[in-house]
Parts: sequence; C-alpha cells; structure tokens
Amino acid sequence: MASQLRRIVEAESPSDDLVAIRRCAGVIAGILKEATGIEPELLETERRVHLLWRRGPSAKVLVLAHMDTVWPLGTTDRWPFVIEGDIASGPGVFDMKAGIVQAIAALSMTGVPGIAFLVTSDEETGSASSRETIETLAREAGTVLVAEPSERGALKIARKGSALYDIEVNGRAAHAGLEPERGVNATIESAHLALQLAQMGDRAAGTTVTPTTLVSGRTGNVIPESASLHVDLRAWSKTELERVDREIRELRPTLPGASIRVLGGINRGPLARSASEVLFGVAQECAADIGLSHLEGVEVGGSSDGNFAAHVGAATLDGLGAVGGGAHSRTEHVVLSAMADRAALLAALLECLPPLASNRGTHLETVDQPTEHT
Ligand SMILES: [Zn+2]
Repeated sequence: MASQLRRIVEAESPSDDLVAIRRCAGVIAGILKEATGIEPELLETERRVHLLWRRGPSAKVLVLAHMDTVWPLGTTDRWPFVIEGDIASGPGVFDMKAGIVQAIAALSMTGVPGIAFLVTSDEETGSASSRETIETLAREAGTVLVAEPSERGALKIARKGSALYDIEVNGRAAHAGLEPERGVNATIESAHLALQLAQMGDRAAGTTVTPTTLVSGRTGNVIPESASLHVDLRAWSKTELERVDREIRELRPTLPGASIRVLGGINRGPLARSASEVLFGVAQECAADIGLSHLEGVEVGGSSDGNFAAHVGAATLDGLGAVGGGAHSRTEHVVLSAMADRAALLAALLECLPPLASNRGTHLETVDQPTEHT
C-alpha cells in the first residue's frame, strides 16, 4: 500500500492541470486493474477525466474519492513523498491519496458485486464537472461511502452545508475634497451590509455568516462608486441555509441613491446526521467484528462531495479514508500502520451493505427530498 501511495503521490494532480490529472488517473487506473482485475472507465467531460470502476451491473454501494489536490505541479521537487517510521508525508497523501489506496485494497479484498468506485478530479474546486455524475450514481446506489480523510480516526457523520455570495454595491463617484456630498459611498454602504450580514448568523444553531473579501473604489481621493462583498454562509440544516439565503436576498441599501445586487446562492446542502445514522451504526458493528477499537463519529463544518450524495437522498458515511492530519498544509501526513485497518473496515462494510440494502428495498435510509439550488 505504501508503494502504491508513493506512485499516486508522485503523479501530482492539481485540480486545474488537466494534463497532470490525466497522468494521475492513468496511474490509479493501472493500480486498480492490477489489484482487482477490472479496468475502470475513463469519464471525459470537456477534456477533464474522472475514473469510474464498477463490479456488477447495478451498483448498490458507491465508494467516492477524488484524485485532485490543492498542490501545484512541481511541489514534489521541494517536498517529495517520504516515509519516516510510521509516517508518510507528501502533497495530497492525506487529502486524499491514501484514501484511494485504502479503497482499492478494500475492493480487492472483497468480491461482492454491486459496487461502484468513482474517483473525481475537481473536488477541491467545487466539483463543477463531476457533480452530476456523483448525484446520478448516488441516487442509483442509495448508499455512499466517502473515502475522505478521517478526523483522527473518527468518521464524519455530519457536515455543514455551504452557500457563497458576491454582493455588488453601486453608489456614485464624486471628488472627496470638492463635492463629497454629491457622492454615494459604496464603501460605507458595504460596511452597513457587512454588519447586517454578521447579525444573520445563529450561534446556537451553528449557522455562520461571514463577510470575507471586500473590494471597493479605485482611487484614494474619490468617493467609491462600486464595491463587491463576498459572503461565506455555513449551516447544519437546509432550513437554516434557506432562512439566511432569503434574508440575504431581502437586504436593501441603507444610503439613499445606493443599489445592491446579490449573486450566488446555496452550493452544497448539508450532510445531515440522519443521512449517516444507519450506516454509522453498521460501521461501528463492522469495526467491532474485525477487532478494531471503538469507532467515533464527529460533525464537521467543512463540506465534501458527500454533501452532494446526501442532497439527493443517499445514505452517506464520510471520513472513511486515511488517519493522519494537516490537510492542505505543509504538515500533511498519514499514519501508515492505520492504512490496513481502515481498508479492512471499508471491506467489511462493502461485504455487509449490499445484501442489507436489498433486504430493505433500494435505499438503506432516505432523507428529505432534495430541492434544486443554483
Ligand atoms: Zn478531500
């Protein structure tokens, strides 16, 4: 597993480098073929490739992973894949190349049919080209296991949903010294907006509304004519996302003569606890069966492609990947000795889930009907 991890890490794969992505997809496809005897299909969308491996005609369980990393090409020149004792480090080891290696090991350990394994290449940039495929496969399977990194070994049983906005503010330019009274100040209007936005959060509900970047005006001695304010919204429930979404759309300018326009909206719906509950119980039993220590579950603020799966009503369990830390940072690493255990856990889940799913009908558990957001 360590040598497979080395090969995949050395095939660097920044989300936006389509040539590098294709090379990395080739390496992963080769390892998958070697390990399982089944060649994955190359899904091509506008020159970008994703990998889809299937055993059996109709999948009851979808295993989800991504091959792209946040690290630019050439990172391995300065920071190569290295193993020191029980720790492997290198760009993308934890998020989530070790998860891919573990998933491949799990697939090779079990022969059960009805499994699909999707490895996308644009998760780190929002999954624009893979979202539809993820949703279609998740809907078909009804059960989704996400090989994203764990939280110190704990599975991710809930993730917040997120929304992104750009608010365009328009005022009127005027000379700041000669006739400032003729201007409508986009910076001041943005400040009013930022303070109102900050009030929309709900600490008890865990809803955060964070005004982030603000760009306003062009010249130091002119009343700013226009501004753009970015807003990051996170919430545990769809109701909360929709409440804040509505409030943001109801914002009105404070200054006479100013106007605002809201762009953007809800991106990833939440992965609610109800979506992972049944699967998490099964995973805990599986862990006990194969002699692993007690499996914990945590709720986290960040979102993943697991959110898309939950959004279309699939039972979704996330964080089944590597044990380690430092995602997106220079301290990124994985614990090598945990890789076999995690692969065994995933294999045990794959062994017991498809029969379970067919006994209970097509879906293990369904959450609220999805609504479409743009
Ligand atoms: Zn990831």
